Formats: sequence, C-alpha cells, structure tokens
Amino acid sequence: MALIVQKYGGTSVGSVERIQHVADRVSQSRRQGHDVVVVVSAMSGETDRLLGLARGIRSDADGRELDVLLSTGEQVTIALLSMALESKGCPARSYTGAQVHIRTDSAHNKARIQEIDGARVRRDLADGKVVVVAGFQGVDESGNITTLGRGGSDTTAVALAAALKADECQIFTDVDGVYTTDPRVVPQARRLERITFEEMLEMASLGSKVLQIRAVEFAGKYNVPLRVLSSFQEGGDGTLITFEEGSMEQALISGIAFNQNEAQLTVTGVPDQPGVAYRILGAVAQANIEVDMIVQNVGADGTTDFTFTVHRNDFDKAMGIVSARAEELGAREVSGDPKIVKISIVGVGMRSHAGIASKMFEALAAEGINIRMISTSEIKISVVVDEKYLELGVRALHDAFELERAPAA
Ligand code: ADP
Ligand code: ASP
Ligand code: MG
Repeated sequence: MALIVQKYGGTSVGSVERIQHVADRVSQSRRQGHDVVVVVSAMSGETDRLLGLARGIRSDADGRELDVLLSTGEQVTIALLSMALESKGCPARSYTGAQVHIRTDSAHNKARIQEIDGARVRRDLADGKVVVVAGFQGVDESGNITTLGRGGSDTTAVALAAALKADECQIFTDVDGVYTTDPRVVPQARRLERITFEEMLEMASLGSKVLQIRAVEFAGKYNVPLRVLSSFQEGGDGTLITFEEGSMEQALISGIAFNQNEAQLTVTGVPDQPGVAYRILGAVAQANIEVDMIVQNVGADGTTDFTFTVHRNDFDKAMGIVSARAEELGAREVSGDPKIVKISIVGVGMRSHAGIASKMFEALAAEGINIRMISTSEIKISVVVDEKYLELGVRALHDAFELERAPAA
C-alpha cells in the first residue's frame, strides 16, 4: 500500500470515453490498495481554444484575466473524472488549485508554486476517497487565480507528491516513457528505462515537452520518485527519472532534443568597443525578452558581429529594439531569421568522453547541413540550423550515435 500521485495529460482526458478509461485505471490502483491523488490537465486542445477566444478580443489580454479564463479547462476535467469514478463505485472528490491551497507567487501565466497545504487532501484520503486536483493552476496571496505556464500540470503533480511525501509521482501521457528523442520525429527512437534528473532537465529546457522543466526541477530538489508512463498501454514500466548511479546505462548520449520556437538576429559591423554587447543585449533584456544563444565574432577592422536567438514570439519586438540600437551605435546592418531550429544532444556520458562534438558536426556535414551557431555545456551540445533541416538533422544524429540500440550494461 502506497500513496501515489498520478497525472493524466490532455490527450489522456481528451474525450468522455478517455476520461472513463482514466477512471478505470485509477480505480484499479485503488483496488490494489493504494491511496491515489489524481492531477488532470484540460482536454486536449482546450487551453489553445481558450487562448484563441482571448485573442479574438485583444492580442495583449491582461495576465490576471487570462488566468481566470485558462484555469477553466482543468475545472471541467476534474469534475468529469470525479463523476466517472463515482459511477464506477470509487468514491472521489474534485478540487481546484485554490481549494487545496496551491499557493503561488503573483506572476500570472508563469506562476511558481510556493506552498501547498495538504491537510484537506489527507483528510479525504483517510476517508477512502480518491482526490482529483486541477493541474496547472494555483492562487496567489491575494486570492487571484494563477496558472503555471504551458505543461504546468506536470508541476502540480510533482509539487503535490512532494507536499504529501508520496511514494511515487506517475506522469501518464500519450507515449509510454521518455524516448531518446521525440518518437513522432524519429520512429526508431528508443524508450529509456531510466534517465538522470540532470539529463531530463536539459532535455526539457532544450525543447522536449514530455515533462515541464519546473516539474523536473521540483522532483530533483525534493527527491520525488518520478516516472513517465502511457495512459493507453497497460503494464509497462515507463521511464524512471533518477539520480546518477554507477549501475546506470553508460551511454555517451542519452537523447536528442530540439526547439522550433527560436529566431535568430544578427548585427554586423558594430564598432568594437567596450560596452557594445551591453548596449545591444541590455536593451533586449530590459524589454523582458529572454536571450538564449549568443555569439560574438573576433573583431576585425575595428568592428565586430553579434548573433543571438530569442523566442519566435519576441522576434519582431527584438528586431525593432536592436535596429534602433544598431543605428545609435553606427552598426552596418541588422538581419534576422525566424526560420531556424536548435538541435541538442544531451548526455552525462559527455563528461568523460572527448570527440563527441566532432562526431556531431561530422554527422551533420555528411547530410550537407550548415551549422549557424554552436553552444556547449558539460552535458550538452546545441547547434542552430535552418528549420528545413530539423528532421534530417535529428535523424542523422540519432543514427550517428546509434541511439536505437540499448547500450551494454
Ligand atoms: P500531455 O498532454 O500528456 O502532457 P505532452 O504533449 O505535453 O503530453 O507530452 C507528450 C509528448 O511529448 C509526446 O507525444 C511526444 O511527442 C513529445 N516528446 C518530445 N520529446 C520526447 C521524448 N524525448 N520522449 C517522449 N516524448 C517526447
Ligand atoms: N492545460 C495546460 C496546457 O495545455 C496545462 C497542461 O496540460 O499541463 O498547457
Ligand atoms: Mg505536457
């Protein structure tokens, strides 16, 4: 008998039939004697639909009102799932984030969970009920509804698991685990039995949306056993996110992530003086635009070039700011390209092996793929390439590092 937090994503609760199916899975866990807390997302497509409605009224809707709107998606699914559980003879109770005191800061649309009062949940569990909690939402100190950013239900589940000291947090989704790369792009991708928190965190921050970044951060920090499983297939072990141990698969590379949401900006012929990087990038940061990769060339004939990437949604705004600054600084030209992607290879095995980068560049070169930018850290190497090379690039790397084959134990 254990306390388990199970999270079901949008596709898994995408229709009444699927909600019935989730209710079957949850009642089965109950019958095995476990205490179960369920976190659900909105039905698939619902959060986008609500965002579309808001955009039909104004493009820059107020964050607070947007959160009031977006949180309704999850309120629908908690009620339907509780009804489905009750109709199967499994006592259940649904709660919004505010009702179980998921206290967050006041950063609307990207709030962070600060505190959860699990008393109410524990009471219901002790009464033999399944507790169904709305994912993705919380409430700030003043009682305003907040949301946790896209994919935030994962974080609700992990945070509840930490607060309740659950034995495991199970993320049920439409794939049966974490793969070497998105199986929709590379059908040969292989399910990983285990992946370290560190690698999972890199994969999530570099674009693999199978788990929200904050959920992984939270689970690592509070030592929550975290597993990704399929809500459709039964019986699999999924993928366990763990701390690094000697007995783990010793792959050089564990996975490949990609991000299709970035855009590139380049300023050429900038007078090469102290402070120019600050003048250009500082202005971008002041406008609350996050800069990802940055490259500055070695200056020649007294000028230098800067290239950097931002989120595609910020591209036009960033171009405006940088063009204005470039003119003030007397730079030669500003150019931009929103049609780029970032592809990254991730693995703790990189720490102890040389030559990974050259193997990566060789594989891309063999396909005639031009690399525009490179950035590295201890356990990842990222490259920016033209958007049209995304699938070819990811497949070439998956082949080159033989990721379809399980490494020898
Ligand atoms: P949910 O609605 O259940 O939260 P998401 O769509 O957020 O599901 O996440 C699951 C999706 O993540 C999969 O359908 C898959 O396409 C994508 N994905 C991206 N990278 C990976 C990966 N490395 N392993 C598994 N799935 C991945
Ligand atoms: N419904 C929210 C979204 O679509 C949260 C989630 O599904 O995790 O992003
Ligand atoms: Mg998700």
